[in-house]
Formats: sequence, structure tokens, C-alpha cells
Amino acid sequence: MEKLAPMCPSAQPEMPDARVLGVVGGTAAAPLVSYLNEPVGVTEEVLALAAGARHPADVMRFAARCQEAKCCHFDGTNCNLATRIVQILPAVVEALPACLIRSECRWYQQEGRPACMRCPQVVTRNYAPDEDMARAARVPLAAVGV
Ligand code: SF4
Repeated sequence: MEKLAPMCPSAQPEMPDARVLGVVGGTAAAPLVSYLNEPVGVTEEVLALAAGARHPADVMRFAARCQEAKCCHFDGTNCNLATRIVQILPAVVEALPACLIRSECRWYQQEGRPACMRCPQVVTRNYAPDEDMARAARVPLAAVGV
């Protein structure tokens, strides 16, 4: 049987095995995700809760199967987004967040606890990232052969 890819913790709701990972709170300048403590699938009713947003991923974090080669952040082995998040962003929590996907999370499998300490500040669609967040999210041009 084919091995399932790990879960991406900053996914889109239409991706395979998508579920709601958390809800974006905090402030626009300092967002902070609250992780759900029970599994919630992506349904029309759930997406309707984000009706006031431009996109559901503005206000919710979704987890879904890592798209691996289809994702610009994956280099064939690693998620470079997770690497940059750990290298560039500050920790925003002192204890491991109680998230439901840790046993399958690609960021955790790859980067360990430092990824979790930074994870709650990530908003999948962030229209006003600060400089560090923009650097962490951006795919370096050299990585795509430009
Ligand atoms: S808190 Fe850690 S295990 Fe949970 S989604 Fe974020 S990086 Fe993955």
C-alpha cells in the first residue's frame, strides 16, 4: 500500500484529507492561531463560517496531505518553508501547542519542537506580512532556477 504523505499544517481547504487545524486570532500585526481540540472536516457549513473573509485560509488554518512535488516549497526531501520559518521567525509560544496533527505533521517531523513554537503565528494567506514573515514565506528565486 502506498505510504501517505505527512500532513501540511498550512494547507488549502480543497487539498486531499483537508481538515480544520485552527482558527486565526490575535491581531493583524501579531496573529496567533488557536488549534482545535477535536477533528473538524472541511464542509460547506464550516467554510460558511469564513464568509466575511476573502478566503477561508485568511481566518482558519487547514491541514491536508503535503503535495510534495506539486508544492513550490518542497525540494524533493524537505519542506523549505518549514526550514525558513524555524530559521527566520521568532518563537511565539513557550510550550508545545496542543495540536491534533503532530504525529503526522511534516513541519514537526522535519524541524521538531522549534517548528511548533513558531507555528501559531503563521496565517496561510497573510496579506500584510512583516519583513521576517515575508522572507520566510517567499520562495528564493535561486530555488526555482531564476
Ligand atoms: S504545532 Fe507543530 S505539529 Fe502542530 S501543526 Fe504546527 S508545526 Fe505541526
